[in-house]
Amino acid sequence: MFPALFVSHGSPTLPFDDGPARDFLSGLGKEIGRPAAILAVSAHWDTLAPVLNAVARNDTIHDFFGFAKPLYALRYEAPGAPHLAERAAGLLGEAGFAASLDRARGLDHGAWVPLMLMYPAADVPVVQLSVQSGLGAAHHLAIGRALVPLRSEVLVLASGGFVHDLRSVVWGGGPEPAWSRAFAAWMHDALVERRDGDLASYRKRAPEAERAHPSEDHIVPLFVAYGAGSRTARLHASATFGSLRMDAYRFD
Ligand code: ZN
Repeated sequence: MFPALFVSHGSPTLPFDDGPARDFLSGLGKEIGRPAAILAVSAHWDTLAPVLNAVARNDTIHDFFGFAKPLYALRYEAPGAPHLAERAAGLLGEAGFAASLDRARGLDHGAWVPLMLMYPAADVPVVQLSVQSGLGAAHHLAIGRALVPLRSEVLVLASGGFVHDLRSVVWGGGPEPAWSRAFAAWMHDALVERRDGDLASYRKRAPEAERAHPSEDHIVPLFVAYGAGSRTARLHASATFGSLRMDAYRFD
């Protein structure tokens, strides 16, 4: 069985930014090994119901604005895996989700930024699964549980941000604020202690939840990965640009 992973992708510039988060992701692919395929769940594909992309080869979507030119030249054209997309849609359907396939879309930067560091050869087939940020934590925990059977040969890679409030990002760098540390500490304990009920209602129970995640798109991938595993282990913890937490977890 492969673990289900949650990683924080940070800024789109991560492949160019020296630091512990990039070093961590650069070593992670070797640590995990090579799966038959990857199911990537990204914060940057947000739909009303689950959608999986089913393509022969993934285009690289540069879904960000105002960054330096070299970033737009990066490509990650991993093969797709239409069979995996269909199987995952079937599992989600059995669990009661109205999942559908998109036969054109490629990979957004929430998927390709970490994948480029983890599996730079871009030779492992990738399917992307969308999130539904309007449907909250419990919905994504259930999606994760539906995906467990895939883990015998597929790496579930959920990509978001452990703390993600773009209004408080300090692009020049700075100390991590106390509210970010408070949220991260609560979330860490809830994940490790497998407090499913607290996680499902983290919005009410976690300190500074609304501050750490003004919208839920970057935290809900975490719940998919958590739901797809049972034991929790933290793989990485750091903060960049002040409050942007880069923590990563594995769920076995
Ligand atoms: Zn993002």
